[in-house]
Amino acid sequence: MNSINTQSAAEASSPSEIKITKVSVADYEWKRERPITNGLHTYETSDMSIVKIETDAGITGYGVGRPRPGERQFRDQFLQTLVGKDPTMTEAIWASLWSPKMSGRRGYETRALSSIDIALWDVKAKLAGMPLYRMLGGFRKKIPIYIAGGYYVSGKGHKELQEEMTSYVELGAKAVKMKVGAVPIKEDIERVKAVRQAIGPDVSLLLDANCAYRYYDAIQFIKRAEEYEPFWFEEAVQPDDYEGFAKIAAATSVPLATGENEYTKHGFRDLIATQAIAILNPDARYMGGITEFMKVAAMAQAHGLDIAPHGDQQAHLHLLAAIPNARLLEFYPQKVNAMASGIYLHAPKLNPDGTVDVPEVPGAGLDPNEEVLAPHRIA
Ligand SMILES: [Mg+2]
Repeated sequence: MNSINTQSAAEASSPSEIKITKVSVADYEWKRERPITNGLHTYETSDMSIVKIETDAGITGYGVGRPRPGERQFRDQFLQTLVGKDPTMTEAIWASLWSPKMSGRRGYETRALSSIDIALWDVKAKLAGMPLYRMLGGFRKKIPIYIAGGYYVSGKGHKELQEEMTSYVELGAKAVKMKVGAVPIKEDIERVKAVRQAIGPDVSLLLDANCAYRYYDAIQFIKRAEEYEPFWFEEAVQPDDYEGFAKIAAATSVPLATGENEYTKHGFRDLIATQAIAILNPDARYMGGITEFMKVAAMAQAHGLDIAPHGDQQAHLHLLAAIPNARLLEFYPQKVNAMASGIYLHAPKLNPDGTVDVPEVPGAGLDPNEEVLAPHRIA
């Protein structure tokens, strides 16, 4: 009897009675202070979408995505299927939305699903009254960060590049990232040399080509860059050029990083199988949400690989704090990017030792700062 009673009590207070009552999305866009150029592209604006999932438990979850037209269309369509569903059934909802034959295996449909999945995990952690990182695994309370910059800007010489990268180190960063791949190899090697000279030997220097190279150019570049001791070489070639990655990895001692354009556990399974990549850069907003990110992190751990997510610092803070194989968080302090650190209510500050503390608030830490975002709303 006792066990039956216990079971009934558990059922009576079970989250299974919770239902999604309302879903909505807000889209935002703002101009960058100045356009930025990497190995392949120039960006003049930044954008984000906030997915809001309300429940009859009085708890609201927030997810983050992008307002690209294809993604918006899928997100609207997916969200309509959620009202009345139990928000804690994250695997079931993921499975119901990820439908290769109906919507597709990767791309915008998976991005749309990702933003929704993130909001569901926010609901779940808030229901549990726990910061998400503790609920997902709870491995650390401080995360080492890197600051990414070193973009190409017309009129920006070595001196300006050096000043920029040094300013990140002065803020506390123990790792900094610069772009390569947009100019001839010889010129990029001079840029890398200048930055290494400026930041000194003890700061990790990350190089990101944003897929600009063919594999043979990438090999020529990284062989010559080796003497400046890069910590990683990111997106040397296009995301599907697995053979290219393997050839580059065979030619250099510099660890390769990639993954910001990879999708789902299936894509990362194939990427890991190349045995060419040391550090994976999944973006939970794109590759399948928190549900999928945690699976990829576990798969990476089993292969001795590290995780250093791409993009949105707030979306990834709790995820890195939850896993043993976290390497670095891409992070922009207030002084470097006021919007990146201002769009969420519980944004951490950069510590002088180059780490950030994970905020001890229930949920995924994605509650938006409406005041900061309101002037940038586009839909
Ligand atoms: Mg990158």
